[in-house]
Amino acid sequence: RKAEPEGPQKIPGIDRIIAIASGKGGVGKSTVSANLACALAAEGRRVGLLDADVYGPSQPRMLGVSGRPASPDGKTILPMRNHGVTMMSIGLMTNEGQAVVWRGPMLMGALQQMLNQVQWGALDVLLVDLPPGTGDVAMTLAQKADVSGAIIVSTPQDVALLDARKGIDMFQQLNVPILGMIENMSTHICSNCGHEEHVFGHGGVATEAEKLGVPLLAEVPLDLQIRLASDGGAPIVMTQPESAQAQAFRTVARDL
Ligand code: ADP
Repeated sequence: RKAEPEGPQKIPGIDRIIAIASGKGGVGKSTVSANLACALAAEGRRVGLLDADVYGPSQPRMLGVSGRPASPDGKTILPMRNHGVTMMSIGLMTNEGQAVVWRGPMLMGALQQMLNQVQWGALDVLLVDLPPGTGDVAMTLAQKADVSGAIIVSTPQDVALLDARKGIDMFQQLNVPILGMIENMSTHICSNCGHEEHVFGHGGVATEAEKLGVPLLAEVPLDLQIRLASDGGAPIVMTQPESAQAQAFRTVARDL
């Protein structure tokens, strides 16, 4: 009997896997993932998005996808597709409104199923929207799949940065290169008067990125249009492609 292969495995047909991670929840990791996926598609890349945020899978809503994924052969699962993005979400495999109360081994099983049993097809990039923090899912991904790199999303707030640092440390320990950091909710511009306010402070992520020697990929403002677009099922990269916010994501995608 052949021994089980050890260590991180390449997934046939998938060129690169990029993890999108954050130390804390609610900092905009899913918003960034959805926009980045659409931006990559707009740049002509074949892109997939695996929503592995078991505690709050938001990609079905953000990408405007619903329904149960089909499994014609009872073994493999067909992914969903919208805005040029091939996607699968743990949220499509559980009932809406139902809490995921799985323990570690079940989470790992679900992640492996989404990686290996979904018919991703040929992809240039598979983005993985991870749960916040340094838990089982992130570790399993890094240990089982050949992850090319991780992007860390944080707000400029100290408490968020503190946790982001732990995430970076975890990826470094698992030999996953940090591709860069994205500062989300960087500044807020009042839609009435244009006044700019730094709700969560400003520049914290830039300072941190410099300290760690990793690139700051983008600064994304706290912006009503970004929130409205995601809630409506089409990220701002799709709804307002000419906006500065959308262009920021396009720039990150181009260099990825
Ligand atoms: P996470 O994945 O880190 O938990 P989400 O992407 O789900 O965070 O974002 C949390 C909430 O904040 C969502 O309601 C989202 O629409 C909103 N949000 C995220 N980023 C922005 C932004 N730059 N401007 C406005 N709202 C945002």
